Amino acid sequence: MSDYNWCHGPSCHTSHTLDRIRGSKGNKVLRTRKVTLSQWNSGDRLNMYSYFCSNGCYNEFANKHIREVIAIAPRREPLETPIKDPTKNTDNHYYSSWNIEERN
Ligand SMILES: [Zn+2]
Repeated sequence: MSDYNWCHGPSCHTSHTLDRIRGSKGNKVLRTRKVTLSQWNSGDRLNMYSYFCSNGCYNEFANKHIREVIAIAPRREPLETPIKDPTKNTDNHYYSSWNIEERN
């Protein structure tokens, strides 16, 4: 297993940052960032930061491929969490809030 992935952001390689510059003098390029795998983003902790260098790159990927992403687990019905009847919180006189407790 390699210890890095290339960022999957569709336009990662077009961002004008110094850390993306590679190549010899007169032959420079902006290159997709490497995403280093560590104890925080590999194995059981695999997550979006295993494949994307930033939230921006992740959002771009998700927006570009949204139909395919949703097709993985489409939701055609809403989900529901059973709750007890909400009660008003009277502890604070400056603002009001509600107690919402889950029901088993
Ligand atoms: Zn990126």
